[in-house]
Amino acid sequence: MEREIKTDIITATIKKMCTDAACFIPDEVQNALKESIKKEESPVGKEVLEQLAKNNELARAKNVPICQDTGTAVVFIELGQDVCLKGGYLYDAINEGVRQGYTEGYLRKSITADPLNRNNTGDNTPAVIHTELVPGDKLKITFMAKGGGSENMGKLVMLPPSAGIAGVKKFVIETIKTAGSNPCPPVVVGIGIGSTFDGVAVLAKRALMRPLGTPSKEPYYAQLEKELLTDINNTGIGPSGLGGRITALAVHIEAASCHITALPVAVNLNCHAARYKTITL
Ligand code: SF4
Repeated sequence: MEREIKTDIITATIKKMCTDAACFIPDEVQNALKESIKKEESPVGKEVLEQLAKNNELARAKNVPICQDTGTAVVFIELGQDVCLKGGYLYDAINEGVRQGYTEGYLRKSITADPLNRNNTGDNTPAVIHTELVPGDKLKITFMAKGGGSENMGKLVMLPPSAGIAGVKKFVIETIKTAGSNPCPPVVVGIGIGSTFDGVAVLAKRALMRPLGTPSKEPYYAQLEKELLTDINNTGIGPSGLGGRITALAVHIEAASCHITALPVAVNLNCHAARYKTITL
């Protein structure tokens, strides 16, 4: 049976997600930061982690943004095929929510209308929206305020299939080493493996949308996540790139089938300000 959802509810939901994501770090991110303080061996690294955790607590208590860069609004939609949207076009409703959230919430507007002319749109729109049609009568919205510094350090490669798991690991570690302090570590590492050139980047982004520290459902990839986290934390980059053990809080992998000639790999990094939120309507 069809279920009706009014698009003004979507706008109001997105608006609140923008301001909540900016100011309230998810509990699992804060817990991971606090846990990492115990594991960090470098005194400077420990101090950085303590300051980051305190910053998150202050942001929550005072209802102010965690970071001056309040990010690109990235929205993943899972739209149940039995949902009937009423009141307007879905993407207009999402962008109106972003507009209201960033303007009325006094969040930094960071989006240029054109990549070369660099004119700011003034309201942080348009959002980057990915929509998937799924069975059912629900609408699931996952919102991420994606920091620019960490986004800039992402990389994609089309490896030959013969590169195998060793090639994937080498590429991920090289990406982390090249990124150094730029993505504001400790980072969360989203890895896409498989699909196509365009699809693998979305897989990597989707990996970052998973609640921090939730392992892959596939044991093979859950094991690879563990191994990569150890290797990344052995690079010595450390919190804020000042040296130490805690370079990453988590590694998430999303994999998909691909062509027999290809082994696409994408790495999308999130900074310690891993700001995301999921709501189902
Ligand atoms: S990368 Fe993240 S922590 Fe660094 S400035 Fe941007 S939003 Fe802030």
